[in-house]
Amino acid sequence: MNDQCTGIACSNISFRYGKTQVLHDVSFGIGRGVTGLLGANGAGKTTLLSILSTLKQPLGGDVAIAGHDASTSRGREDARLSLGYLPQRYELMGFSTLEDNVAYSAWAHGVPEQQVPQAVCDALAAVDLLDRRRVRARRLSGGQRQRLAIACAVAHRPKVILLDEPTAGVDPMQRANIRDLAVRLGRRSSVLLSTHIIDDVSRGADRLLIMVDGRINHDGQVAELADGSGEDRTRAIEQLFLKVST
Ligand code: ADP
Repeated sequence: MNDQCTGIACSNISFRYGKTQVLHDVSFGIGRGVTGLLGANGAGKTTLLSILSTLKQPLGGDVAIAGHDASTSRGREDARLSLGYLPQRYELMGFSTLEDNVAYSAWAHGVPEQQVPQAVCDALAAVDLLDRRRVRARRLSGGQRQRLAIACAVAHRPKVILLDEPTAGVDPMQRANIRDLAVRLGRRSSVLLSTHIIDDVSRGADRLLIMVDGRINHDGQVAELADGSGEDRTRAIEQLFLKVST
């Protein structure tokens, strides 16, 4: 199967809020692995992810998720079953246990009832929270909540995973855990990780898209920017980001 069937293909996406155009001719295709979508606050990342998740319809352009054309209602329905979306603000059911949170999400994403318990175990194990499965979600730390939210988003083993600023507001240790988790998810899925934190892409992404004022100003492999350590890559991405932002 080619990348277009397993990942995201979008071409010439545009979007406006009222009279303000916030996305201009956005085109890219991504396959398996982690693609970092780096941009300053207000660049248009969340708007783009809402369109890719099918929550918003673009003003113009085409989107296909795992080969499903998001311009038709049937295509959007199929796309939703093939994607896992972690929005910036995700409401967990605080009084429910971790396993109930993940079970509900798996079921809502179409996992057959008899397969839900195994899907819950797999998803909680993937985010290192299996031993806390009977704890209520409200008792978790910020980073643990974020990992639980990711487990909810991926319990149905989607081909495409959209993570909107998953490391925002968590401590450096948890941030590294979430980056490692994205890398593991990228082995089986196409992961698009939006962030304004350069370390997230230098240490966690194979590919880098830089968004500036609603346009993709750079699209390339992270390894081509600098050999060697995370620090070298961070510096190289920082310089590139400044260059393409002006
Ligand atoms: P990012 O995720 O990169 O911070 P957003 O997609 O949230 O960017 O925002 C892109 C632009 O659209 C910003 O200028 C923001 O103020 C504007 N915007 C976002 N949501 C709305 C909305 N609901 N109504 C009007 N403008 C919005």
